[in-house]
Amino acid sequence: MKNGIYIVATPIGNLKDISERAKEVLCTAEIIACEDTRVARKLFSLLGLPAHKEFIRLEDHNEAEQTEMLVSEAQKGKIIAQISDAGSPLISDPGYKLVRRCREAGVDVFAIPGACALICALQLSGLPTNSFMFAGFIPNKEKARKDLFNKLKDIDTTLIFYETANRIVKSLAVAAEFFGDRELAVAREITKVYEECVNGTAQELLAHFAAKEPKGEMVLMVSPPPEDIKTAGLDIEELLKEQMKKESLKTAVKNIVEAYGLNKNEVYNLALKLKNNE
Ligand code: SAM
Repeated sequence: MKNGIYIVATPIGNLKDISERAKEVLCTAEIIACEDTRVARKLFSLLGLPAHKEFIRLEDHNEAEQTEMLVSEAQKGKIIAQISDAGSPLISDPGYKLVRRCREAGVDVFAIPGACALICALQLSGLPTNSFMFAGFIPNKEKARKDLFNKLKDIDTTLIFYETANRIVKSLAVAAEFFGDRELAVAREITKVYEECVNGTAQELLAHFAAKEPKGEMVLMVSPPPEDIKTAGLDIEELLKEQMKKESLKTAVKNIVEAYGLNKNEVYNLALKLKNNE
């Protein structure tokens, strides 16, 4: 195995999600840079991996100084693995400064992919995946939370946030203010026994969590803002109706989408609605 730093993803709940490559790197590495040495040692024990190696704590507050030490060890030819408490390192977890410094210093960096909560959540949500934005943890302070939602609300993309069970209700209440009737999804306990993904408006999700206490780790997602179907004063519904008198539904949708640069799915859904109401 080449010398350098290996960024190793570990499971987010189900231990079977560890990859063969991850196990090989964790077995071979001489130094394990981790957020919490007790959590890391426990993971090694659960995975049946040899733990006679150096475990070094790498956290946000000591990342700068630990980085220099790890870079120097890597330059001496050591193999170093970096892990988080769970999931993919660097994603709302420490490590990017280490990677940056390694690359500046000419130390090889390797990614060993695996579970990442935001990707699994997006896959479960059924929300559009062609474009998405991960915005990290929702801030705990009310004003910061509002400012963040206000800043992101008009971006044409699916929004993804990390959240905790004890704050989700507050965040959904603010989400109701900024995202109105848009579809949201909360994926929780992914890869664990009580994995679920609940979709609905912010109000519907608030009702859900009023009936069922929010528990476990969770990811909040928000669907993109609806496209304004009345483009530049045009009544798309009327134009679509006209097209549907002359053309098949598919061709009518295609003609309108191409003529006005609209979202195909939205026009298709509108066409279906019109057809069903006939
Ligand atoms: N780096 C990790 C990743 O991307 O997979 C995430 C670390 S971050 C400190 C922890 C947050 O990730 C949790 O608060 C939660 O929002 C999300 N998360 C982690 N595991 C999860 C799971 N099994 N189900 C749902 N969300 C999870």
